[in-house]
Amino acid sequence: MTAKQAQPGELDPIETASRDEISALQLDRLKWSVRHTYDNVEPYRKKCVEKGVHPDDLKSLADLAKFPFMTKSDLRDHYPFGLFAVPRNKLARLHASSGTTGKSVVVGYTKNDLNNWADVVARSIRAAGGRAGDMVHVAYGYGMFTGGLGAHYGVERAGCCAVPMSGGQTEKQVQQIMDFKPEIIMVTPSYSLVIAEEFERLGIKPEEISLKVGIFGAEPWGQGMRAEIERKLGIDAIDIYGLTEVMGPGVACECIETKDGPVIWEDHFYPEIIDPETGEVLPDGEEGELVFTSLTKEAFPVIRYRTRDLTRLLAPTSRSFRRMDKIVGRSDDMLIVRGVNVFPTQIEEQILREPRLTGNYQIVLTRDGHLDNVEVRCELQRELSGKLGRGVIEEIARGVAGHIKTIIGISTKVNVMDFDSIPRTQTGKARRVIDQRPKQL
Ligand code: ADP
Repeated sequence: MTAKQAQPGELDPIETASRDEISALQLDRLKWSVRHTYDNVEPYRKKCVEKGVHPDDLKSLADLAKFPFMTKSDLRDHYPFGLFAVPRNKLARLHASSGTTGKSVVVGYTKNDLNNWADVVARSIRAAGGRAGDMVHVAYGYGMFTGGLGAHYGVERAGCCAVPMSGGQTEKQVQQIMDFKPEIIMVTPSYSLVIAEEFERLGIKPEEISLKVGIFGAEPWGQGMRAEIERKLGIDAIDIYGLTEVMGPGVACECIETKDGPVIWEDHFYPEIIDPETGEVLPDGEEGELVFTSLTKEAFPVIRYRTRDLTRLLAPTSRSFRRMDKIVGRSDDMLIVRGVNVFPTQIEEQILREPRLTGNYQIVLTRDGHLDNVEVRCELQRELSGKLGRGVIEEIARGVAGHIKTIIGISTKVNVMDFDSIPRTQTGKARRVIDQRPKQL
């Protein structure tokens, strides 16, 4: 790769524009997007009428707060095409969410939408340190999931060479990386660890792997996981964020020079943070639910879409756009254990304080009478597996349970298992939680 940090001439001018210029562009585009949605998406128009707001009421960015939200259930209620804003002969592609949480939703793109999407993914690749001429191994799943194709067209737009490997076939992934020598990999963080383990199994050291950068998204991952991936693959691990409803990967991406949370491509996606209980807009810096309004999308515009992802908006650093903090989790991933709210990533963070454990873990919830029991299953690193005495293993388990108790406030039974005891994801998002508690009626 030629350079890591993008030079000013390599960036889109808006990435380094003043806040005034950005706000002016956002307001123009926002007015268009709200009117386009109001005019063409009947269910949203109805919501506006019920709330007594009209696109003419949008005179400043702050006025957006007067408009109704869109939610995942709106998308499901109007499955498949009820919220599309263009006739079907204007569509160029469909995608669907992977349905991690319930029935899938279908989204559509016009030619212009696909063009903008490729642009923001290309911008994300540049932010991650990629340059024209680099080769990018894409191990996100291709198909209805937005990951594979979304990444793919961005890779090509950035002037890079795409290797459309898709997910699965781990041995082949590793073989191709060794043969083709790509500089960049795009994949979910959990699957990147599966690939890293295959390198380990073959005795291939990080310095023998051509990869320099990994662009990881589609699921939450903490700083401990970043360190683990960077160490095992010998790369810089960059966080890319996106979701099907808003577009797919490339709504926001970290910059390699700072690695301080994904920069939101605010010229296409307008972010707000709201209090998830009251719906009230919160100031930058406060944690709440991330809400997005698309500014340029034609086929499937979203106005105030509630992502259910919990994070904060942060001040700009390496670009003029605001950043988002690493996602703690989705509100629907939150576990309530004996009254304490817990996100799997918080447990992940505590496990990864112990270098003898891998980043692969699972949380098993059971109920004993009225009491929730939490078992945290984690794994020894390959080189230690089968080699430690019972006393040491118990000491590791006590250490992790102690951290979880002190930091998160719940008692857990930590089960330190041999390497490769926990099922690996082959294609995409890891399954971190197994909830065996009886359903509450
Ligand atoms: P599904 O909703 O079926 O999982 P998506 O692939 O659209 O389908 O998932 C998008 C969601 O994935 C986001 O709302 C967020 O919860 C999660 N996600 C995506 N990228 C990241 C990231 N970089 N960090 C944390 N979570 C992420």
